[in-house]
Amino acid sequence: MNIEVNVLNEIMSTIGSVSPETGGIIGTQNDVVCAYYFDRTGSCDSNTYKPDTDNVNRVISEWEKQDIQFVGVVHSHEEKQPALLYADIVYAQAIMKANDMERILFPLVVIGNKARFIMYMVDRCGDVTAEEITLI
Ligand SMILES: [Zn+2]
Repeated sequence: MNIEVNVLNEIMSTIGSVSPETGGIIGTQNDVVCAYYFDRTGSCDSNTYKPDTDNVNRVISEWEKQDIQFVGVVHSHEEKQPALLYADIVYAQAIMKANDMERILFPLVVIGNKARFIMYMVDRCGDVTAEEITLI
């Protein structure tokens, strides 16, 4: 998956610099992740990030006007949990169903001594793969 350097930097300086779990959404144009919105009004309980859906849906329709496609949700985990949880996958499937998507990018920012970014992709069946990242 191609991602613009400035987008990754922005993710790391927002989600990557605060405690888990926070999140945001990402969008693509021509198969490049070029848009990111930090959902600072989203909420988090003990183990799941819950977007501020009104806000996020407003951003998604703004993106549509600019030909940017909503492709995924990024959130953070503590270092001891570098994989998606069952609840994350169920949530990813619900978003895919609601938005008629076959797959969704569900990257994680793992907060540790040094924050890491892992580009997970989830398909409709709930299978998770870690995608290679190419910085552009
Ligand atoms: Zn999670």
